[in-house]
Amino acid sequence: MKFGTYFAYWESEWDTDYLQYCKKVSSLGFDVLEVGGAGIYSMTEEELRELRQEAEKYEIKLTACIGLSKDCDVSSVDADVRAKGIAFMKRLLDHMHIAGIDRLSGITHSYWPFDYTQEFDKAVMRRFAVQSVREIADYAAGYGITLNLEVVNRFEHPLLNCAAEAVSFVKEIDKPNVKILLDTFHMNIEEDTFRDAFLCAGSYLGHVHIGEANRKVPGKGHIAWDEIGQALHEIGYEECVVMEPFVKEGGIVGRDIHVWRDLSGNADEKKLDEDIAESLVFVKKVFENK
Ligand code: MN
Repeated sequence: MKFGTYFAYWESEWDTDYLQYCKKVSSLGFDVLEVGGAGIYSMTEEELRELRQEAEKYEIKLTACIGLSKDCDVSSVDADVRAKGIAFMKRLLDHMHIAGIDRLSGITHSYWPFDYTQEFDKAVMRRFAVQSVREIADYAAGYGITLNLEVVNRFEHPLLNCAAEAVSFVKEIDKPNVKILLDTFHMNIEEDTFRDAFLCAGSYLGHVHIGEANRKVPGKGHIAWDEIGQALHEIGYEECVVMEPFVKEGGIVGRDIHVWRDLSGNADEKKLDEDIAESLVFVKKVFENK
């Protein structure tokens, strides 16, 4: 397994300069830096090459994550909106290829955060999502890029709330580069047990996000890390395990994630670094001693 973290632990905006984080996460002991798809989409070719070189310099593997915006909803009943979303995804995949990123996680089968004030039909949404993801997956395959569709809780999206729904969805898509992403924060709300969900995902599991139930770094809450580590070994999971902590209120990140209080103990950057480095030692110990 490779261990990483999402850049947004330190940030209040999704679209930021990722360059600085290669050195930082490397110095904290990580193998992987997960960056935001929105930022990758808007970077120039030169900036993308620079990011790739910086990652290579610090021997950091880059992964990307995104929730498509509502106007790019690839599960929309509106064909124009779906076309816009697919075009967005193709350009993002072009940019990922330049930056040397081979996997994309998140809500790339619809949009996020979901707007529950509008009417929707889940079956119709699912049908359009399958159709769009197949087209995006074929394009991604040209670059050797894998899509890891994220399973999120009911308050954030209605389509894929648990591992079983996601496995059924990717089986129907039937593309080798379309897998699923399980995130312990969402699993804690939706799954009966962590073990059953990971076993259900099995070889369809392409990516894992880890965090406590309140999105603090692993080790500071009540999530069953021993059970999770054991289950990942049982299914022979060898891909990335990426922390996705959100502990600071403010900015677009705080708003989208619904962080309305400080969960960091008013940590400054140095303390945030210490906390996540300590968490990494904890996770490696629990996951690697199985
Ligand atoms: Mn996640």
